[in-house]
Amino acid sequence: MRIRIHRGTAEIGGNCVEIEAGDGQRVIIDLGRPLWASSAVDVPLPDAEGLTHHDPMLCGIVISHPHLDHYGLLGKVSADVPVFIGAEASSLLRAASFFSPVSVAIKPAGYHVHGESSTVGPFTITPYLNDHSAFDAYSLLIQCDGRRVFYTGDIRGHGRKSRLFEALLADPPRDVDVMLMEGTHVRSDPATDGETFETEADLEMRFVDVLKATSGAVAVLGSAQNIDRLVTVYRAARRSGRQLVVDLYGISVAAATRSTIPQLGFPDLRVYVPQRQRVLVKDSGEFNRVKELGQARVYAEELAAAPSRYVFYVPSSVVFELCRSGVLDSTGAVVWSLWSGYLRDGSGERLQQFLAERSIPLSTIHTSGHASVVDLQRLVGAVRPDRLVPMHSGASSRFVELFPNVERHDDGEWWDV
Ligand SMILES: [Zn+2]
Ligand SMILES: [Zn+2]
Repeated sequence: MRIRIHRGTAEIGGNCVEIEAGDGQRVIIDLGRPLWASSAVDVPLPDAEGLTHHDPMLCGIVISHPHLDHYGLLGKVSADVPVFIGAEASSLLRAASFFSPVSVAIKPAGYHVHGESSTVGPFTITPYLNDHSAFDAYSLLIQCDGRRVFYTGDIRGHGRKSRLFEALLADPPRDVDVMLMEGTHVRSDPATDGETFETEADLEMRFVDVLKATSGAVAVLGSAQNIDRLVTVYRAARRSGRQLVVDLYGISVAAATRSTIPQLGFPDLRVYVPQRQRVLVKDSGEFNRVKELGQARVYAEELAAAPSRYVFYVPSSVVFELCRSGVLDSTGAVVWSLWSGYLRDGSGERLQQFLAERSIPLSTIHTSGHASVVDLQRLVGAVRPDRLVPMHSGASSRFVELFPNVERHDDGEWWDV
């Protein structure tokens, strides 16, 4: 068996790994769009045979989780290449595709089931449901020719599914020849090595504090696809006696997940349909999307009449509309619940200025979707792979200082397992 990492040995995101069996059959693990590429940039497919034309030697593409930097180039692949992904991840992407052209509605050939092995050509693939900021995310054990490769995908140990991380440490895959491990938090500055991250439960308490201390509306700006965060804000809303308001995109994504996740019909959960989404529904003629909201739908007038009753979990673009309609003013607050780097880009700067002009306080409550170095060391200690290959890191050269048995490879290079 041999491996070629097309992208990911020297950057965070854009993961793509090609694995070839001794008989020449191949499987591709993740087909991500690099994070540096804005939506306007045309990113070519990696140089792997069979992505754009029929090639029986390419057995399939296995997607670990529904983040753009892991599936984002799928739209360019010929429809006859079988794709494997989690069932909820697939329906989440389908739900999101109505709202955003970067999302894809795929027709998977098979779905990941936690702990259940399945075959893709000569490869036996065992998915491990894991803890990450994307919903329905998996690490993958790939076996072929008597060799075993463990691909961590994106993983953490401090989210709402931290039990899964602990279960992996307690009962890891055995006899792993190669572990391909993400190292988002392996950074060039060694001072960050000991950094630990707040849990979602920590965030919940901080949200409760803000909600109780604020007399007006509170808008939490986050990703609808970060289901852990949706749960956190919903729990904080209920503990503070407020109703949670999401947008049509948020409620559609939630509907794609399992029934224990807050969605239509849950108490104190309301839906506000912003102008842009009203236009989208009108243009598509899919009026059922708003009709089915029923009593859960809430309009700007009702929100503006009693802003202190509500907390929003919405994209940042909705803030401007909430201010224009008098829902959000200087008695309210905005909480940034995304990576702080986005706050420093052009639209983040504009948002900060917009809020400052209106004396609306802005704070940040967020935790990383990726494991601390300390948790990664625990993972390596549990799996004890013969060889540890760095991926999904901006400082792969530092792995050797932090973990045993590190073997680095470059993008595009074939190497034997
Ligand atoms: Zn990633
Ligand atoms: Zn991810």
